[in-house]
Amino acid sequence: MIQFYNTLSGKLEPFNPITPVEIKLYTCGPTVYDYSHIGNCRAYIFEDLLKRFLIFKGYKVKHVMNITDVDDKTIKGANAEGIKLQEYTKKYIDTFFEDINVLNILKADFYPRATEHIQDMVKMIKGLLQKGYAYKKDGSVYFSIAKFPNYGQLSKINLEELKPGERIESDEYEKENVNDFALWKNKKEGEPFWETEIGAGRPGWHIECSVMSSKYLGQTFDIHCGGTDNIFPHHENEIAQSEAYSGKKFVNYWIHCHHLIVDGEKMSKSKGNFFTLRDLLNKNVNPSILRFLLLSTHYRKMLNFSFKALEQASASFQRIKDFLYELKNRSFEEGENEEIPLLIEEMNQNFTGGLNDDLNIAVALRAIFEMIRKVNILISQGKIYREDADKLVSSFNSLDEVLGVLHEEKEEMLPSEILKIIEEREKARKEKNYKLADQIRDELLRKGIVLEDTKDGVRWKRGKAKS
Ligand SMILES: [Zn+2]
Repeated sequence: MIQFYNTLSGKLEPFNPITPVEIKLYTCGPTVYDYSHIGNCRAYIFEDLLKRFLIFKGYKVKHVMNITDVDDKTIKGANAEGIKLQEYTKKYIDTFFEDINVLNILKADFYPRATEHIQDMVKMIKGLLQKGYAYKKDGSVYFSIAKFPNYGQLSKINLEELKPGERIESDEYEKENVNDFALWKNKKEGEPFWETEIGAGRPGWHIECSVMSSKYLGQTFDIHCGGTDNIFPHHENEIAQSEAYSGKKFVNYWIHCHHLIVDGEKMSKSKGNFFTLRDLLNKNVNPSILRFLLLSTHYRKMLNFSFKALEQASASFQRIKDFLYELKNRSFEEGENEEIPLLIEEMNQNFTGGLNDDLNIAVALRAIFEMIRKVNILISQGKIYREDADKLVSSFNSLDEVLGVLHEEKEEMLPSEILKIIEEREKARKEKNYKLADQIRDELLRKGIVLEDTKDGVRWKRGKAKS
């Protein structure tokens, strides 16, 4: 039996999908105004662990992740650079997909974009107006939270201080500012807008997720994930909009992952402790080790990222790699030890049992390290044979379907700016500008990218960064 902590009830609950055939999962996706930072990566990796575990347990999972390509932040970013919204967001959409690929995150089935679902949003807003949950004011449309008695059920917010009829315009706000929120924002100077039946303007952030989740997963679905910072107001507002519109329960399980801090402090650009995934890759951090670190703290605990923690994760990760290397490459005698299938069975049970219990990753990882410890003893006693080694390798590979850290075959994607540099060097070589080509090669070497010129073209691999 699987159980998850449901933010809605504030309790651990047995997981009962609406239909066992296919689980419907929605995860709030990136707002594409910047590169993914490691806090974002933590949330994506937690969601990936959850999804991979459900698949491992035999479920099919239909996964939708939205892309917020129009909201306050993206508009502000595009205006600051003086370029069109689409041009601005494209760069961050592309890099988002590179990032999840580098982190070995399984692809969602759908990545709907807000700007491609404006008509669907208008339809829901019209429905909310008709049902009396929404009202127009100065060309914008607001959701009237006084009309929705269950408002606050997810975030357990206290509505006593609510001043009815007061409105909030911005997409993000604190609990003290709980008020009627914008579903549709009136056309403004310097903002993109759409001409629609409810007027010229653009959608608020929250309506995007209500519309895109129900469009692909139905009006009631199994699991909705995000970071704890999404609980209020984003997810609270999603529930209000969706349930007011459909008259049905929106989501059965709300599963939220905790923040990430760096060296014990909130990550912020001004403190200099703010890291994007790209920053770490440029520091030559192995993405599999980063993934291992980010998934090895339970998702409901605060994760304190530090380079020391990364080193420790690297040592644990290396222990698994060395173990598998040994099993694959040592010459064992033919034969088998009948104790091994029992040990594998025990490991699998402890691993699965841990994850069944609200994704208790510490228990799951302990099962793996315990196995390594026991088998290493058997190896030193000469009690491991060729067949045992093969069984052990395949049992680890099977558990890695959940962890997603051991696969080395998978070709890693380089960040686009590095690919661009490689292209420049190719161009220089073609033009016989070998001096420039060598300079670029050295520059890449400093970033830990080693180039090899082969007859089939240039190849790269990660190596030690040289200064
Ligand atoms: Zn969302």
